[in-house]
Amino acid sequence: KSFDDFKFNKQILSAIADAGYTEPTPIQAKAITPILAGQDIMGIAQTGTGKTAAYVLPILMKLKYAQGNDARALIISPTRELAMQIEENIRLFARYTDLRTVVLYGGLGPKTQIEELKRGVDILVATPGRFLDLYLDQHINTKQLKFLVLDEADKMMDMGFIGKIHRILEVVPRKRQNLLFSATMSELVHKIAGDFLAFPTIVEV
Ligand code: AMP
Repeated sequence: KSFDDFKFNKQILSAIADAGYTEPTPIQAKAITPILAGQDIMGIAQTGTGKTAAYVLPILMKLKYAQGNDARALIISPTRELAMQIEENIRLFARYTDLRTVVLYGGLGPKTQIEELKRGVDILVATPGRFLDLYLDQHINTKQLKFLVLDEADKMMDMGFIGKIHRILEVVPRKRQNLLFSATMSELVHKIAGDFLAFPTIVEV
């Protein structure tokens, strides 16, 4: 498989070339086509397999360009470190588009994050607690969300985020595309996948 097989637009193909990626990794080769086709995905993949680009690239392709003020994609990460890495990946691949990314995490005051949200956002990357805090304080409108990603779902379960994830599922639109990535398939991940995904395509590497 080559990146040209996916019919990405030239903005994305140029960014992929700039990143020095010559061919898709196995998780990318398996996941990108069903994500572009609108399917829910349960991806079993470790860090280091290229799982971030496997969901970021098709989401960028489907969002295409900046629109409105409110996020259309929400990516939930268990940790601040992973959230920052995801944001960095998105910036790399969105560099030839006008798509706007905001990253939200705890451990510092929310003032700057609230200001960034006010300027408009297409893709939101967030840890569960800070997302809910800013949502409950009405700094985030979820009505336009079309994509919801849970990255490192096993880690989220290990960190005790299941209640927060259920709360997030209650405040996002029912009609949306869901992508779940996990390094392992534990009982709790299976449970959250059942609550979250509709007839998922299972992709394992
Ligand atoms: P991830 O598993 O998403 O954390 O990615 C692990 C590393 O692989 C990151 O440094 C990526 O930049 C890199 N990577 C992802 N996809 C590719 C690819 N198709 N070709 C080369 N490197 C890649």
